[in-house]
Amino acid sequence: MVRVVLLGPPGVGKGTQGRKLATGYGWALISTGEMLRDAAARGTPLGIEAGRRMDLGQLVSDDVMIGVVAERTGQPDAAAGFVLDGFPRTVPQADALDAMLGGRGLALDAAASFAVPDDELIKRMSARRECPVCKRSYNLESAPPRDGRHCDDHPAAELRQRADDVPETVRRRLDVYARETAPLLDYYRCRGRLREVSGVGTVDEVYGALVQALGV
Ligand code: AMP
Repeated sequence: MVRVVLLGPPGVGKGTQGRKLATGYGWALISTGEMLRDAAARGTPLGIEAGRRMDLGQLVSDDVMIGVVAERTGQPDAAAGFVLDGFPRTVPQADALDAMLGGRGLALDAAASFAVPDDELIKRMSARRECPVCKRSYNLESAPPRDGRHCDDHPAAELRQRADDVPETVRRRLDVYARETAPLLDYYRCRGRLREVSGVGTVDEVYGALVQALGV
């Protein structure tokens, strides 16, 4: 059983790698961004408020996110292990995660951090498209769908660009990352749990490096 956090700037590949890792090992994939986009699409009170902040490239409040993750990590499918994509994003969230797991007699095994140069991140996010049905992520340049427009697994579903993947919002998200989330690298390094992985290369190359870094 493994509990792992994926860290790194937006567009680095956390979602793609997290999905592969969780599927490969039978762990739950907990993507807070995906949960919020889902809530926004369903128009729940949380979704409406979160959607506004997401579209601006701002973070949703720590209290809300900590509540969402406390609930989700306690569900039965997460007992076999989980991969957190997009949480924690601030030091208070990281502290809350430790306290939450500690209170259940559990601990985080590792924080894997991916790095990619900023200009590459901006390129990746502008070419990123996702399937509205299964949320699988494509890249129009490096990993396009077979017909160029629709999900390979859902041929009726036209791929969409995320509202926050437009250039101005991408820049704001990178600033927010540098200010609020990058300090988590030192946070986990000091606690001996940081595993650094290069995010440059093909999906399979990065995945190989991730599995090796985690020692699973
Ligand atoms: P992501 O899909 O991880 O890029 O997240 C998309 C957006 O969801 C972020 O820009 C934030 O607005 C929001 N979000 C996701 N996870 C968190 C979190 N742990 N804390 C605060 N906001 C979050």
